[in-house]
Amino acid sequence: MATEQMTRTRSTALFVPELVYFEPDALLYPKGKRILEWAQNKGLPIHMTTSHNRITNFPGETELEKYRIAKRTLVVGIRKTLKFDTSKPSAEYAMPIATGCMGHCHYCYLQTTLGSKPYVRVYVNTDDILKAAKQYIEERAPEITRFEAACTSDPVGLEHITGSLKEYIEFMAKEPLGRLRFVTKYHHVEPLLDAKHNKHTRFRFSVNADYVIKNFEPATSAFHERIEAAGKVARAGYPLGFIIAPIIWHDGWEKGYEELIVKLHDALPPEALDDLTFELIQHRFTKTAKNVIERRYPKSKLEMDEAKRKYKWGRYGRGKYVYPDEQATALREFITEQIFDKFPNAKIEYFT
Ligand code: SF4
Repeated sequence: MATEQMTRTRSTALFVPELVYFEPDALLYPKGKRILEWAQNKGLPIHMTTSHNRITNFPGETELEKYRIAKRTLVVGIRKTLKFDTSKPSAEYAMPIATGCMGHCHYCYLQTTLGSKPYVRVYVNTDDILKAAKQYIEERAPEITRFEAACTSDPVGLEHITGSLKEYIEFMAKEPLGRLRFVTKYHHVEPLLDAKHNKHTRFRFSVNADYVIKNFEPATSAFHERIEAAGKVARAGYPLGFIIAPIIWHDGWEKGYEELIVKLHDALPPEALDDLTFELIQHRFTKTAKNVIERRYPKSKLEMDEAKRKYKWGRYGRGKYVYPDEQATALREFITEQIFDKFPNAKIEYFT
């Protein structure tokens, strides 16, 4: 028995929040009512809030404890802003679906962009969001318009609660000029396997060298779970993609990234190879992000030494630290070669 327990690989559980907040108007929507019922059935503590943007007073003695609880707090509200942000280079627009994530990836840019609001907000007025998407598609016709649904969250990890991603996928399936894409570190893909996607959705998984996943991605699905899920998604006919991000320079990085590509190659079914894309993003950080990360993950091994990096100027004076050209080129060339060696028909969409 003991041996069996030791050898059995534990499956990453579905996210169940510790606290749930509702905006009163969210309960006027069928999705709001469904989520309330779900939370009640689970016996979760339920509170009301006047605005999903103003939740304070999380339990916990220290800032860190409050942060941990906030990451496990679900807030159900109405999306008021229906103006979509741009989302280069992966898509034309970011499509709102949720804001915040229960994962604890040390390097995640939501640390900075969400600041003091790290809780997980989901939106019940998906019809309004889909209507807005339709307008964006019409404005750009006859061009194709791509929407990224994972800019501010990991929607696959929330799908069992909201069902929103399936709605988006099936909406996009009927739009000749609309395309959806999202990325995930979770393997809970079951509810999406029977969606009518019409190949208009690119389902991507975030993958990385073992060192990165082990050290910097707590509270996400294990690599083998993501890959197994990728196989299921490919067999369900979705165009598949992998985002290797953040690419991190570490001792033994060549071996780490080579093994990653080999493992992907060995695990993927033939269906996955028909239309496969890769996106490559090197690690970057801002001064603000560094401060936040050092407070929230004080023991993190994430290297953020400005002296070892190149400063890249950004919009509004918000520059970031990337790898010096020589290192960035080495990473790009090496990983690109590995991909083309194992996946000669795959497309590398960009390295940034
Ligand atoms: S899974 Fe994605 S969105 Fe969630 S914490 Fe990790 S990097 Fe951020």
